[in-house]
Amino acid sequence: MRCPICKSKLVFWKQLELETLDEHVWCLPVVAKNAYICSNDDCIGSSKGVCWNDGGTFYDISLGAKDIKFINDNNGAFGSFQREINVSIYKMGVAKELFHIKLGKLSIHLEWNYDANEDGEVLSKRLSPKICYDCVLWHSPLSKAKFILRRHRRGLEPLPNRTWVHKVVNFVINISHIGRS
Ligand SMILES: [Zn+2]
Repeated sequence: MRCPICKSKLVFWKQLELETLDEHVWCLPVVAKNAYICSNDDCIGSSKGVCWNDGGTFYDISLGAKDIKFINDNNGAFGSFQREINVSIYKMGVAKELFHIKLGKLSIHLEWNYDANEDGEVLSKRLSPKICYDCVLWHSPLSKAKFILRRHRRGLEPLPNRTWVHKVVNFVINISHIGRS
């Protein structure tokens, strides 16, 4: 992994109790993890006491990194899963929305979705429309059906297994699902 501030190699520092998102959300005990620091003594990250974990997630353990400028505004280490999802999920350093219009409680958003590699480089991007009513995201029947089939193919969700009528009813319920954004 490489430093997202100066691109120098990150080197093992010591074990630290670096809380992951899962540990935080599920209130799990924080276990000690490998912490990595920048090998470049002249890097501002070295003087600010920042580090990264095995997955390339950034930690500002001394809370002094407010002014640090990261390459492409992405604080994930180069060559890590974190740097990839910082673009594909959190959209760090890339455009999030092309435009949105609001008509009373109805709003229509045209957003960018990205595929990225572990260096945070955008591999492809596509526009994705989203429709919200009263801040509730509406999923198109096609995208919901694709989501169910994808989960089913990965063995995460059984398809309805009852009579033909029940199958149709379940399908209609599923494709008209409205979820919170
Ligand atoms: Zn550095």
